[in-house]
Amino acid sequence: MLEPGAVIGILGGGQLGRMLSVAASRLGFRAHIYEPGINPPAGDVAHRVTTAPYEDLAALRAFAASVDVITYEFENVPTAALDALEALRPIRPNRRALAISQERIAEKEFLTGLGLTCAPFAPVGSLADLQTALARIGAPAILKTARLGYDGKGQARIMAAADTVEAWETMQGAPSVLEGFIAFSHEVSVIAARGLDGSVACYDPGENVHQGGILRTTTVPARLSASQRSDAVLIAARILNALDYVGVLGVELFVTPQGLIVNEIAPRVHNSGHWTQQGCAVDQFEQHIRAVAGWTLGDGSRFADVVMENLIGDDIARVPALARERAVSLHLYGKGEARAGRKMGHANRVVRGIT
Ligand code: ATP
Ligand code: MG
Repeated sequence: MLEPGAVIGILGGGQLGRMLSVAASRLGFRAHIYEPGINPPAGDVAHRVTTAPYEDLAALRAFAASVDVITYEFENVPTAALDALEALRPIRPNRRALAISQERIAEKEFLTGLGLTCAPFAPVGSLADLQTALARIGAPAILKTARLGYDGKGQARIMAAADTVEAWETMQGAPSVLEGFIAFSHEVSVIAARGLDGSVACYDPGENVHQGGILRTTTVPARLSASQRSDAVLIAARILNALDYVGVLGVELFVTPQGLIVNEIAPRVHNSGHWTQQGCAVDQFEQHIRAVAGWTLGDGSRFADVVMENLIGDDIARVPALARERAVSLHLYGKGEARAGRKMGHANRVVRGIT
């Protein structure tokens, strides 16, 4: 169990790294951010920032030597960088969790291997593969790059066989996966945590609405029956245990009449868990820091109904109006330019307190 004053190393300095840094400092720790880009959002609040690329092994080693434990806010850290870091300090969540969530095919094989249901899928490495896969899976389907997708980027929808050539061109030759289209009624996610001692704490599932491939809102409680709610939590716990996971994990699920289908997992705090900042005594950021620091997990029970709304691009202009609303808590990321599609902040609206 890390003592106050210990240093939490965080790979990535975006908004998740920023909110993790705040949580770390609230617990008496210091956050050291490693981020290739200049002026990262986390830099405003972290104790220390290293600005260097993930290829700079000397910078990585110096960073590792200066921290007590290493965690991350995004999953696409190169393997060689992780090797250099892991030789010096523990990385939590572990390498296997990271490797699995970096690659959609490995992820789906892992999930289905646990007996969980995913969309039907097939690896695709060429146009011919795509045509064979589509013949098996059927249209509509979605082609996704196996690596490096986020916010719906690196995806192409295939409505009919005639769309295959264009869809394959969108992938620019990258190894991909074809997924059958799931006619879900809605999307939910479970944010769950596992401690060093193996204990698990799950937050109540949130219901997610996407727009243009980007998360728009998360609402708690989600529309789920009591048994779907337990299923969602059991799915998350099963994944955490199988990975011997330490930290917070996000599990995205499609709700269908046939049951819950796992879309993907994220080995980190998750945008759809931001509501916990106003809905729980211990939010996902504190929970993650507690876990990676070897502390006892906090209580994740929900005491309010909350709607989290992402402020994307020009939405930032709504801040003065949102700031006048009594039940709204604002979380802004300190990003300069409000480009289209850029997450600038989020607003948590407490709809109803639960007594
Ligand atoms: P993010 O970073 O936002 O999680 P991502 O780029 O990793 O996104 P996915 O989560 O795989 O991509 O897909 C984004 C969204 O596209 C999903 O939340 C869902 O709305 C839709 N989608 C993805 N796969 C399927 C599918 N097989 N069937 C139906 N809809 C899908
Ligand atoms: Mg997703």
